Amino acid sequence: MPATIIDGKAVAQRVLQQLATRVQALKERGMAPRLAVVRVGDDSASKVYIRAKIRACEQVGMLGGEFELPGDSTESDVLRQIGELNADPSVHGILVQLPLPKGIRPHRVADHIAPHKDVDGLHVQNLGRLLQGEAGFRPCTPAGIVRLLDEYAIDARGKHVVVVGRSEIVGKPISLLLLERDATVTVCHSRTPDLGAMTRLADIVVVAVGRPHLLKADMVRPGAIVIDVGVNRLPSGKLAGDVDFDAIAPTAAYITPVPGGVGPMTVAMLIQNTVEAAERQSAIDPSE
Ligand code: NDP
Repeated sequence: MPATIIDGKAVAQRVLQQLATRVQALKERGMAPRLAVVRVGDDSASKVYIRAKIRACEQVGMLGGEFELPGDSTESDVLRQIGELNADPSVHGILVQLPLPKGIRPHRVADHIAPHKDVDGLHVQNLGRLLQGEAGFRPCTPAGIVRLLDEYAIDARGKHVVVVGRSEIVGKPISLLLLERDATVTVCHSRTPDLGAMTRLADIVVVAVGRPHLLKADMVRPGAIVIDVGVNRLPSGKLAGDVDFDAIAPTAAYITPVPGGVGPMTVAMLIQNTVEAAERQSAIDPSE
């Protein structure tokens, strides 16, 4: 039987609709939630991603603003911009779009964002909370994957999950989130000698590498659940994931498409984190 295609676009739309109600409630209490996105330089993919994020802000009735710094900005320039946004009470969530130009250290930048405004979940404090299993902002892409599994009633408990990729924004945090849900997690990377031997053991495969069609049909067992995080622009201009979708969809149990799978959920989780940030900031506002 062909796989059920996990419709991330539809789930993300539902999430955004629910968030619009929460935004409305905040506005009725006199608070207009606001996300600030900082872009350094002219990366064209970054511009596309930021546009999608700002559009989602508008869709839920929230304010979204882009703060643009030139590509030759120094790390101090970026930290100064973040400092201003940290100090601005009208800003509830701050995101610095990655990648950053050479010479600007992503950790230094992430750790400069006030943890309660760190809606990308990359501040060391939020990553530490993730490791400890404590409440905090979770990185958006892994949070979106977990939400997709929930929406399709896929229980990771006791399942063998193989994660391909060990980045701080996807591979490592999704491994922790699924461990927390009692999955048995194997993490693979570029030094894993026989990737197929690992992925064939998986009940759930999550691929976050950035290589078109890396995961082939003979690397996945029939009935597996396949989550494709990769976004690759082919020479033809078409988008492709890290998974050979056409070859794997006929035998998998569930599969996410690219586009329309994990990507829209990343944006939805960013908006969710920002709404939560605004709700928490409104709750601690002593003037209320
Ligand atoms: P990174 O480049 O930070 O990490 C890639 C990981 O893949 C590394 O851990 C690397 O291993 C591993 N890797 C590289 N080659 C191989 C290989 N041949 N076999 C096994 N592992 C390999 O990427 P990101 O995690 O930031 O992103 C991954 C992909 O997901 C990209 O296509 C990106 O565009 C996409 N993405 C999509 C998002 C969405 O919302 N849909 C959000 C974020 C990312 P090593 O550590 O050894 O170098």
